[in-house]
Amino acid sequence: MSLTSERLDRIQPSLTIAISTVARKMIAEGKNVISLSQGEPDFDTPRNVKDAAIAAMERGETKYTDVAGTQALRKAVTQKFARDEGIEYKPEEIIISTGAKQVLFNAMVGTLNAGDEVVIPSPCWVSYPDIVTLADGKPVLVPCSQNNGFKLRPEDLEAAITPKTRWFMLNNPCNPTGAAYSKDEMKALTDVLMRHPHVWVLTDDIYDSLVYGGFKAATVLAVEPRLKDRTLTVHGVSKAYAMTGWRIGFAGGPVPLIKAMDKLQSQSTSNPNSIAQAAAVEALTGQQDTVEAMRKVFEERRDLVVDALNKCPGVHCSRPDGAFYVYPSIQGCIGKTTKGGTVIKDDEAFALALLNEEGVATVHGAAFCYPGYIRISYANATEELREAMTRIQRFCEGLH
Ligand code: PLP
Repeated sequence: MSLTSERLDRIQPSLTIAISTVARKMIAEGKNVISLSQGEPDFDTPRNVKDAAIAAMERGETKYTDVAGTQALRKAVTQKFARDEGIEYKPEEIIISTGAKQVLFNAMVGTLNAGDEVVIPSPCWVSYPDIVTLADGKPVLVPCSQNNGFKLRPEDLEAAITPKTRWFMLNNPCNPTGAAYSKDEMKALTDVLMRHPHVWVLTDDIYDSLVYGGFKAATVLAVEPRLKDRTLTVHGVSKAYAMTGWRIGFAGGPVPLIKAMDKLQSQSTSNPNSIAQAAAVEALTGQQDTVEAMRKVFEERRDLVVDALNKCPGVHCSRPDGAFYVYPSIQGCIGKTTKGGTVIKDDEAFALALLNEEGVATVHGAAFCYPGYIRISYANATEELREAMTRIQRFCEGLH
């Protein structure tokens, strides 16, 4: 008899974490590896946030909190949603979880029945389809081509919706492509959703403060407030505040849904870390200058990386409006042979050969359900990125 359950056997471990693990092992063996594979800002957590955590410990805030999070943090989240997204929530419409990942997990496990469909534009973040599958749902992937900026077309959303569709899951700006929707593009999608009242909307806006070149990311509810009674707005402090290790994510949604997620969380992890919650209050309500400072650096790095990649033979990289990823096509390299004698048969072979021969870790597109591409995270020190781009250029120029 298998040790593991059928449910667990349906999913695979996160491929982005798997590749980072290989890269870390190579580094531990003394190899010179630059890892562009993980979605984690290189910046330190801002000083004011760390101080708030220390102060919370000194005050004795080291005990259980309400399962759905402290009143202080839920209130801070309502202020954040009102200030940054233009969405009014009440504290009882908010849940705090151990990262946005747990929010997604709670939402899917708490609402899906076997066979329920979840429409997901692809390329998509590695965890979406697996969380849906784990929750007995069926991911319905809708390809979004590079020609359309990796964005979902309304007619493709319309065609993907069936009577069994339970959720539409959107990530805006998107990991892995950086694609972000303008107000008009979002309105075209929400118009489709308005015609299908049985479909709930999960919008993962965790990267929405990281947009560039004056672009303003449009959130679902700011564009179509009438969707509020069936929309879950997911967010967190990991990316914008360089707080990946603190594990605080949150969401706003209709009270019955928030209660369902609270019930599930009460029988699994209970409240998220009390000290991290106090730190998140400071992150969301304290001075926001560090967010803008990091955003500016990310914008410079985006341009550095896109310009360098487009000089590589066989590579074609779009310039995305948000997040800290680019998703270049490497289709022009497929079928060629590396200096080390490896035949690039697909994007995985490209990423592995690049890691082995030049010590640059990226993630192959198949991990994001969209092969023929690689994902590069540019949340690394600028000097490191420059060196990585030199290596990628050398690698591509060496292909024959
Ligand atoms: N959503 C997206 C699109 C992400 O890229 C990530 C992390 O990579 C998360 C959610 C999870 O973030 P958290 O650290 O809050 O669990």
